[in-house]
Amino acid sequence: MHTRDYQALDRAHYLHPFTDFKALGEEGSRIIEHAEGVYIHDSEGNRILDGMAGLWCVNLGYGREELVAAATEQMRQLPYYNSFFKTAHPPAVKLAETLCRLAPAHVNHVFFTGSGSEANDTVLRMVRRYWALKGQPDKQWVIGRKNAYHGSTVAGVSLGGMAPMHAQGGPLVPKIAHVRQPYWFGEGRSGEGRSGEGRTAGQDPEAFGRECAAALEAKIQELGEENVAAFIAEPVQGAGGAIIPPESYWPAVKAVLAKYDILLVVDEVICGFGRLGEWFGSVHYGLEPDLMPIAKGLSSGYLPIGGVLVGDRVAETLIEEGGEFFHGFTYSGHPVCAAVAQRNLELLEAEGLVDRVRDEIGPYLASRWKALEAHPLVGEARSLGLIGALELVDPATGERFAESRGVGTLCRDLCFAGGLVMRSVGDTMIISPPLVISRDEIDELIDKARAALDATLARLAEPQSD
Ligand code: PMP
Repeated sequence: MHTRDYQALDRAHYLHPFTDFKALGEEGSRIIEHAEGVYIHDSEGNRILDGMAGLWCVNLGYGREELVAAATEQMRQLPYYNSFFKTAHPPAVKLAETLCRLAPAHVNHVFFTGSGSEANDTVLRMVRRYWALKGQPDKQWVIGRKNAYHGSTVAGVSLGGMAPMHAQGGPLVPKIAHVRQPYWFGEGRSGEGRSGEGRTAGQDPEAFGRECAAALEAKIQELGEENVAAFIAEPVQGAGGAIIPPESYWPAVKAVLAKYDILLVVDEVICGFGRLGEWFGSVHYGLEPDLMPIAKGLSSGYLPIGGVLVGDRVAETLIEEGGEFFHGFTYSGHPVCAAVAQRNLELLEAEGLVDRVRDEIGPYLASRWKALEAHPLVGEARSLGLIGALELVDPATGERFAESRGVGTLCRDLCFAGGLVMRSVGDTMIISPPLVISRDEIDELIDKARAALDATLARLAEPQSD
């Protein structure tokens, strides 16, 4: 089949995730046919550097035969069985053990799911159940953050703070509140985004980070500690725009949480498995979460699998006092997915890829990425480990463009045309490449990003047709 044939069938039958169906139908999809290392190949013969590791998940890179072998072997051995009725199977048991060995010392149990969204649904049910078992059934409120992403199921959307998602398909799950995000460039630098307060002078990032933590404390006090079950947050917000909080933020949040009896849920779906140079983002920030939803890099995206890592405090209560937990999925701990995840973790470990992000390739990316700040379109270039963002600004003013100009989307399309996948969130350009990316490939990524920025600038200089 040719590209046009695929596109016709795609248009006729396939409703894509997070997509304006009609607009895509008019434009046509790019068809990705195969991939190796950090490159994807489309049906037109283009080789494209995947700066996003798929959807932040292909940590080990594409084309790893070891994972193919693990899947094949397990499919032959036992393609499916469940763990519902007092049964288990070797791949899920082994994976549980491996995960608990890699997790912080106080985390010794895991509940498997099929995705990150299901992991966060599990989180919501688990934290409320925990407090009910503790004789505090009123502790039901969960505090999340605006512009956070925790999935697309009803609980995932409710816990997340994406305004456009909240506006569709409501009503949301009750008793979930959201506090401000530690997004200095967007909301602290020039005082933007402070609802009701108007625009104020820019703030020092560290003072801003502390102010965001204070907003959490204010929300806890408003709701009443006796009504709050948990606070949920990503270590670094991914889908929100690769938002790396100011250094002051997490220590200040830790100090707030230490004052109140509230569970901490750290969503590790993106930051887990090496993205920030540690096995978990929580380790990078010195956090001791009660629950850690995981997915994506757990299997490097080769097969769908997620889970919730459960700290001792919650696990002991669920085990000792809980009785039956009426919760689980047909594919919880699916044997083939678990076998692939196990092999994936073994390879990440054996090849020292997590330490490499912290000690070698992360710092290399940081130095090359930061240099892009010299480009007239770039107001900030930030990165941590192998996650990075560029904030696009109007060179004339140094301020952000009007949203309606769609500069981020233009830059993203020019990146793709130039052989690089870089994602745009508004006018924030994002990368999250496979952990196996080499220095030469980072050089290529930077060159292509710079070329796309130049091309974007040139397009903006063209006379406006509207
Ligand atoms: N949490 C975070 C932080 C995520 O980034 C995502 C996915 N982008 C999810 C949860 C949801 O995961 P999934 O798409 O596997 O349901």
